[in-house]
Amino acid sequence: MKILLVEDEVRVVQFVQKGLREEGHAVDVSYDGEEGEFLGEVNDYDLIILDLMLPKKNGLVVCRELRDRGVATPVLMLTARDSVEDKVRGLDAGADDYLVKPFAFEELLARVRALLRRRSETRSPVLTLADLELDPMSRMVTRGGKAIRLTTKEYALLEYMMRNPRKVLSRTLIGEHVWDMNFDPESNVIDVYISHLRAKVDKGFDRELLHTLRGQGYILTDQDLAH
Ligand code: CA
Repeated sequence: MKILLVEDEVRVVQFVQKGLREEGHAVDVSYDGEEGEFLGEVNDYDLIILDLMLPKKNGLVVCRELRDRGVATPVLMLTARDSVEDKVRGLDAGADDYLVKPFAFEELLARVRALLRRRSETRSPVLTLADLELDPMSRMVTRGGKAIRLTTKEYALLEYMMRNPRKVLSRTLIGEHVWDMNFDPESNVIDVYISHLRAKVDKGFDRELLHTLRGQGYILTDQDLAH
């Protein structure tokens, strides 16, 4: 999943970003409210983790303005203050959940999972392409009923592709969604992951689903491609 973290405390950013990346998420970071709001509006995130006290624009205002502009992405608000009033104000501004600092990473992760689960429930529950199935809730992937074991990053890549089937996905697009906005599209990391994924998803099956289109990118499709 693609997550935006808006937080000005470098220490918190480092530990949250590292932990979420280890869970296979792509994490963009912004250190102030203005930029955070801009990124939250122009990019399609699955979750925004938003600090309350931020330079330039505070989290409550950012959240309210995003909602006013129709951004429905779940928001998890972080704050150093633990008062009922703050909590109510955060939820009134359109936040979906609330976490008081300092927090244990496990607690943050539990909230993140719950919000992402809610989001995948409102989207299509099981993603299917031909005989390939991916269940975002259990993270189970099967082809022809046979379980496929994927690493965290392979899974994230496949989920992104299954949410965008039959579309040509450039390396830049994949990099932004599965890695983060600082991803170098010139690197060969994506090619390496695609070849691992292809070995697991297509090898031994009659129909290939994962294709490389030279100079354009990659496509996951059950349709015949004119070469
Ligand atoms: Ca802060």
